[in-house]
Amino acid sequence: MTTLNLDTLRQNIATVRARIEAACAACGRNADEIRLLPVSKTHPPEVLRLAHQAGINEFGENKVQEARQKAEALADLPLRWSVIGHLQSNKAKYVARFAHEFQALDSIELAEALDRRLQIEGRALDVLVQVNTSNEPQKFGIAPETARDFLRQMPIFSSLRVKGLMTLAIFDADETHVRQCFIRLRQLRDALRQELPDGIDLDALSMGMSGDFPIAIEEGATVVRVGQAIFGARPTPDSHYWPS
Ligand SMILES: *Cc1c(COP(=O)(O)O)cnc(C)c1O
Repeated sequence: MTTLNLDTLRQNIATVRARIEAACAACGRNADEIRLLPVSKTHPPEVLRLAHQAGINEFGENKVQEARQKAEALADLPLRWSVIGHLQSNKAKYVARFAHEFQALDSIELAEALDRRLQIEGRALDVLVQVNTSNEPQKFGIAPETARDFLRQMPIFSSLRVKGLMTLAIFDADETHVRQCFIRLRQLRDALRQELPDGIDLDALSMGMSGDFPIAIEEGATVVRVGQAIFGARPTPDSHYWPS
């Protein structure tokens, strides 16, 4: 792994922000509408501390154990933690304790477990519903056709604040296939908005990573989850984070 210093991090963050601005300019959007969520998985707490010095106040982590260890190590800093990877219901209690946001809600069972644990902790959690827009059987996320029924069940989970939808695009060299996933998520959001249950809002569209965030922005992303373009290449293969 390359050693990251403060200057490199500052430069990488500035480059990503400039690319966000360029993507927004190209499609007539305002860069203020885009939240950059830096994804810090595999990087040690010292690197996150540097990123905080470079102006970062929130981190996305794929795995809850890794996230909570870092949250503990960095408890002296005012940070927000977003868990963005698949979660088993029996680990809901960990997310309920420290996370501010969970982006990978994909089952009612998990919603129930999170809500129950949040009640115990006296906390609430922002959640995004993960949608499988690529139709790959191995991808996590609910099927787009089931999203309407899924959202209808959300109001009973009073500790969950549904804020939007999240997706991982297909990994494909053909840009049109990637873009299609983002279009599908936006169109789904627009359709669901017609009849939203009380207390649910779908303003957030979390889509786009280091390799494809400019396309996601053109298609309406409001949250981009960017790891490698900020922190450098990871030693672990992506199959460690999602089945391939
Ligand atoms: C790791 C990860 C990202 C960021 O990927 P990069 O290629 O590092 O930008 C985005 N979303 C999820 C769910 C991830 O696990």
